[in-house]
Amino acid sequence: MNSRQLQALVRTVPDFPAPGIMFRDLTTLFADPAGLAATVDQLASHARSIGADAIAGIEARGFILGAAIAAACGKGFVPLRKAGKLPVPVIEAEYELEYGNDRLELDPTLIADDANILLVDDLIATGGTALAALGLLRRAGARVTHGAFAIDLADLGGSKALREADCAPFSLMAYP
Ligand code: IMP
Repeated sequence: MNSRQLQALVRTVPDFPAPGIMFRDLTTLFADPAGLAATVDQLASHARSIGADAIAGIEARGFILGAAIAAACGKGFVPLRKAGKLPVPVIEAEYELEYGNDRLELDPTLIADDANILLVDDLIATGGTALAALGLLRRAGARVTHGAFAIDLADLGGSKALREADCAPFSLMAYP
C-alpha cells in the first residue's frame, strides 16, 4: 500500500481539538485490516533496517503502533507514559504540545545500556512530544538515532527539529 492509499484511510476532522486545527485521525486507518498491516509492516521494515534493539512508543497512539512493530520485529517494547501512570520510580520531561502542556515519564530500568532504540509515535507535528521522549531515552542511556511516525505534519517543523537533534525522522505520510 503506498502513501496515497494509506492517506485515503486517515480521517481528517476539522476544528478538533480547537478551531482552525485539522486533526488527522488515525483510528480509521487502524480499524482497516490492510491499512493497519501495511502501516506496521512498513514501519517494522524501517526498524529492522536500522538494527533497532527495542522499540519505544509514546502514549497513547504510539503504543498501538510501537507494540505491533516490536512484535513484528521480535523485539521488546518500552512505553513512554503520561504523568502518574507508572508504579515505579521514573524520570520525567515536561513539554509543550501544539495545544497545551503535558509530561512524559519513563522507567529507566527498562533501557539496556547503549541499546539502539527506535522512537515511535503515530504523528509528529511541532516535535515537542518526540523531543521530550528523545531526551528521556537518552538520559536513560539509550542510543536514539531514528524516529518513526505514520504521519509527518512537516510544516510544523517537528521532523526538522528532530533531525537537528541527531535523530533521523522516517514517516509514511506527509501532510502540509
Ligand atoms: P507535537 O508534540 O506537536 O509533535 O505533537 C505530536 C503529538 O500530538 C503526538 O503524540 C500526536 O499523537 C498528537 N497529535 C498532534 N496533532 C495531531 C493530529 O492531527 N492527529 C493525531 N494526533 C496528533
